[in-house]
Amino acid sequence: MYDIAIIGLGPAGSTLARMLDKKFKIIAIDKKTEDENKGFQKPCGGLLSPDAQKMLIQFNLTLPVNILSNPQIFGVKTIDTGSNLLRNYQRTYVNVDRHKFDLWLKSLIPENIEIKNNSFCRNIRKTENGYLLNFVENGKESTISAKYIIGADGANSIVRNTVYGKNKIPQYTSIQQWFRDINPNPFYSCIFDRDILKTCAWSISKDGYFIFGGAFGLEKSRENFEKLKEKLKKYGFNFGDVIKTEACLVLAPKKFSNFCCGKDNSFLIGEAAGFISPSSYEGISYAFDSAYILSKVLNSEISSPNQKYKSKTLKIRLKIFTKIIKAKILYNPFLRKMIMKSGISNINIIDEK
Ligand SMILES: Cc1cc2nc3c(=O)[nH]c(=O)nc-3n(C[C@H](O)[C@H](O)[C@H](O)COP(=O)(O)OP(=O)(O)OC[C@H]3O[C@@H](n4cnc5c(N)ncnc54)[C@H](O)[C@@H]3O)c2cc1C
Repeated sequence: MYDIAIIGLGPAGSTLARMLDKKFKIIAIDKKTEDENKGFQKPCGGLLSPDAQKMLIQFNLTLPVNILSNPQIFGVKTIDTGSNLLRNYQRTYVNVDRHKFDLWLKSLIPENIEIKNNSFCRNIRKTENGYLLNFVENGKESTISAKYIIGADGANSIVRNTVYGKNKIPQYTSIQQWFRDINPNPFYSCIFDRDILKTCAWSISKDGYFIFGGAFGLEKSRENFEKLKEKLKKYGFNFGDVIKTEACLVLAPKKFSNFCCGKDNSFLIGEAAGFISPSSYEGISYAFDSAYILSKVLNSEISSPNQKYKSKTLKIRLKIFTKIIKAKILYNPFLRKMIMKSGISNINIIDEK
């Protein structure tokens, strides 16, 4: 019998595991492998937003340089194919290798926590005293029980699906492809296309690779991805041979009631709770923040932790709600055109020839 079982050691789960008191008996189950070429890796842009950077300051953590990706880019080219407009906006992201970043966060977890790597949680059942959890570690099946269960298992959370049922939060298929970067100048981009995309697509240059991705409706997602690639060739995108294709679900909360904080001694943190911006798909800062809030609640051994966690995450939910409104404006072709046309915040590139 464990006090706490954490499912998933991405930014949310690793942060919670690091911050929980040593008085608890804790098990953490994560399907990631250390090997870059094997097993599950989170498809991600690997851009640390100013809010994520702020959380690292609060945690008194400094990033090891081997986690940084090359180059660091300070602007994003924003392209709207419908109005044929291109703008350059300043962004102060830190470009990191997402897999190395996750492994670094995992390396900070104290030794008292029992970590099951390369392990997949496949079933959760509520019991009188807590939860029974079934997982497979290197092909071997085990069942454990825990008083509290934490879903830090991302967009397709088994904890959320068990407690709330499927499809509680609107979702898209996110597809990313990796190419050798043959562009003369590495760049970030954000792409809007009213025919193919309901939200946006993006590209990122990272360590000699050009990563192109987007969030697509669940139906015909691959077909639409290829259509968009074709369309972008005329905007100067050079794709070349595909090195790797990755796909996963990505959540896009659309209303306040979409968020799921957990109930009956189950808790959801990070993207599993729906804590991700539907306007930029930035989620690492919310993963950090919700994990920190939950650690404070559980460490204080308060009598109604679910209620406390829900009330303490109100500021996160309100903040993401402002992003829901921002998304409604950005994804409206007419309003977007007006904003881009205004030229506000646009930085013109100087032609040095
Ligand atoms: C394509 C894409 C690009 C993105 N780009 C950015 C970006 O540039 N910047 C940014 O801030 N955010 C970005 N996001 C959002 C960001 O990736 C997430 O919000 C963030 O990773 C959430 O962290 P998390 O710890 O909650 O979940 P995750 O990072 O998804 O971690 C979940 C963990 O749970 C484990 N897991 C899942 N299911 C199980 C199971 N059944 N059993 C055991 N383990 C399990 C996985 O191994 C994983 O390690 C992007 C998302 C997508 C899809």
